Amino acid sequence: MTSFASQVFVRVDKFCRPLPIVLNTFLVFSITAEVSYLVLVEAPLEADQKKTVWSAFWKAFHLLVQYFMLGNICWNALLFLRTSPSIKGVFLGVEGMGQGWRYCYTCETHTPPRCSHCYDCKVCVLRRDHHCVFFGQCVGFRNYRYFLSCLFFMWSGLLYATLMNAEVFIVILKEGVTMHSILLLIIPWIMLVSGQVTAQAFAFAFIADTCVVGFLLVSAFFFFHLVLMFRGQTTREWYSTRRPYNLGLRGNLRHTLGLRWYLCWLCPLIPSPLPGDGINFQVTGLLEPTR
Ligand SMILES: [Zn+2]
Ligand SMILES: [Zn+2]
Repeated sequence: MTSFASQVFVRVDKFCRPLPIVLNTFLVFSITAEVSYLVLVEAPLEADQKKTVWSAFWKAFHLLVQYFMLGNICWNALLFLRTSPSIKGVFLGVEGMGQGWRYCYTCETHTPPRCSHCYDCKVCVLRRDHHCVFFGQCVGFRNYRYFLSCLFFMWSGLLYATLMNAEVFIVILKEGVTMHSILLLIIPWIMLVSGQVTAQAFAFAFIADTCVVGFLLVSAFFFFHLVLMFRGQTTREWYSTRRPYNLGLRGNLRHTLGLRWYLCWLCPLIPSPLPGDGINFQVTGLLEPTR
């Protein structure tokens, strides 16, 4: 019975794992499609603004910006998934086992400082930050750049989409702050199921809501990781007030984003080699708390 239950659990777990990435992809493409529609068909939405129809150049510029951000999100996400931050295939060395090294009983090997075991990825990860549930992979030494760039373009894309959707909020609220318009913005699903609104009104309200909520969530996450990068810390190290690996602002940027840190976030194809090896780290502060 127990083995049957564990088999069911393994199957359910296997089925559910790709769901966050499928849902995220669906939302990212839906938002892009909706904003493209707003630019091409509805902009500007207001009747009294119809005299100032957007020029073809202005529309093309908006579309270019949107698809530049979408391309960067997808490309960074793909490279993030393809770049394993684990110790698999990495020669960890034999002489270096000094301060900060540990033994992992699951991987049966000595592991360097800032490396820790992930029970989801079932492997030790170099300079492990955290296990990202949306991608189903750990954020670590080699793929941090793609993770942060993806987060940056998601943040800027959602900011742009929220500003573009401000028109949708204005149009919905223009009919007056009625119970109908408030419910459409708060619970669009229920309004659709109960037949109170059309599918089109639901789609606009749902995507506008998603943009605002997504922007707030991604903002919190993105700025937290920016602070971590500036401080030269991982999420695990954040809980400690010590910063033993802090190399100063420029040094931290170089060791996180690579030697071309000032340029590489623009496109994932710009080569930006990391100065370290993910095994040896320059210690600039106290590793253990003083008593
Ligand atoms: Zn391990
Ligand atoms: Zn992991």
